[in-house]
Amino acid sequence: MYNLSLYDVREGLSNKKFSSVELTECFLDRIEQFNDLNAFITVCADRALGSAKKSDQRIAEGKAMELEGIPLAIKDLFLTKGIKTTAGSKMLYNFIPPYESTVTKKLLDAGAVFLGKTNMDEFAMGSANITSYYGNVVNPWSKDKKLVPGGSSGGSASAVAGHLCVAATGSDTGGSIRQPASFCGIVGLKPTYGRCSRYGMVAFASSLDQAGPLTKTVRDAAILLKIISGYDENDSTSSRESVPDFESFVGKSVKGIRVGIPKEYHMAGMSEEIIEFWKKGAELLKEAGAEIVDISLPYSKYALPTYYIIAPAEASSNLSRYDGIKYGFRANGVSLNEVYENTRAEGFGDEVKRRILVGTYVLSAGYYDAYYMRALKIQKLIRQDFSHAFEKVDLLLTPTTPNSAFAFGEEPKDPVTMYLNDVFTVTANIAGLPGISVPIGLDKQERPLGLQLIAPHFKEDLLIQVGSALEKSANFPTLMEIAQ
Ligand code: GLN
Repeated sequence: MYNLSLYDVREGLSNKKFSSVELTECFLDRIEQFNDLNAFITVCADRALGSAKKSDQRIAEGKAMELEGIPLAIKDLFLTKGIKTTAGSKMLYNFIPPYESTVTKKLLDAGAVFLGKTNMDEFAMGSANITSYYGNVVNPWSKDKKLVPGGSSGGSASAVAGHLCVAATGSDTGGSIRQPASFCGIVGLKPTYGRCSRYGMVAFASSLDQAGPLTKTVRDAAILLKIISGYDENDSTSSRESVPDFESFVGKSVKGIRVGIPKEYHMAGMSEEIIEFWKKGAELLKEAGAEIVDISLPYSKYALPTYYIIAPAEASSNLSRYDGIKYGFRANGVSLNEVYENTRAEGFGDEVKRRILVGTYVLSAGYYDAYYMRALKIQKLIRQDFSHAFEKVDLLLTPTTPNSAFAFGEEPKDPVTMYLNDVFTVTANIAGLPGISVPIGLDKQERPLGLQLIAPHFKEDLLIQVGSALEKSANFPTLMEIAQ
């Protein structure tokens, strides 16, 4: 039962093929068995079994809610009341939140069971899950060499692909849901900025951060998205846009839908195989009745540098709250300033420090106009690019990443090359647009590859509709068995 989709699990539970307690026990066993994946920072076995029991009762009484008894994994960046939340950092190694994030509250209110909190790059900064204070996460597709799962939601992606949970939550500031989904052969959806409340999510770059689902199928993503979406008075940037029944768009015909292929996404140095899969994806959608249109997004080439100015700028400000006084890690010092300095020197890892340095630099008096203001101007131009494109097409098809998962030790050694992983995903965050990564196939090394769809604001329904068509024709072995 562990390799079933959320949709099938829901059916199995309501038909009493298995109970939530049985299911939860099965996943807890697997989490232990595949401990080497290091996908979880915290496992809440007792609490999970307790809520599974309650769910079984409600199912027996005919009072089941939408996610009744379904075991999920939660990225360790969502505050969970009473459950340690670290954001992958030493800085929060002992932090037990006094309140629940809106996204996780909505899942709990729908009857979901939380198995635990998943590992992640420290403060969601990274593309390989190698910056976590709690160790590297391993991609379940690893064979002879251990592969990275992508990042920063690598723990969630690895847990879903390795069948350690039914589905998981992630967050995406520049690609952190879609890129690990692509590396692990699963579906990852980043909603429109504002679709889901950010209340109770550890902030990285507040104008770019969005929560979203990592799932085994597009339908599962639709089911979870509906539950976690909606206006929240605790987040002034959350939207009042109505939330459609996303699931009803699964399997809808794509006849006549115009799919744009942006020529700028043909990047020097990207793998030939990805280009082939990209062509194949377009071909499959064409066969299903869509119209393929070549388009141009001329400012895309500036997206990555723009992101790596805006995101660190916001991060440097957001992370100033970690001073060792109010909560989390505290180092000793003889003066208050020394406590601050030592706490931040010992509490943050290298990548986080790098971002804080870059962020404070681009915001500093002499450089603000040259870097930060200019980045905001380019952000506007990138947004305009998309608006123009969406006059000609309904949505866009691109690769999710320029390469498949790499092995530990073979990762880019300098940070800037590592940042290239995000080249195709950051544009959607910069423009606030929704995007989904759907598995398309395995490369010659048998590593998964994904394709990305990007739609206009609040058109996640279109992502589900076209994503499910792509999923169906790609016939990717999403419910694979991992090596024992
Ligand atoms: N890999 C990107 C970064 O390191 C994106 C991270 C994210 O989306 N949280 O900033």
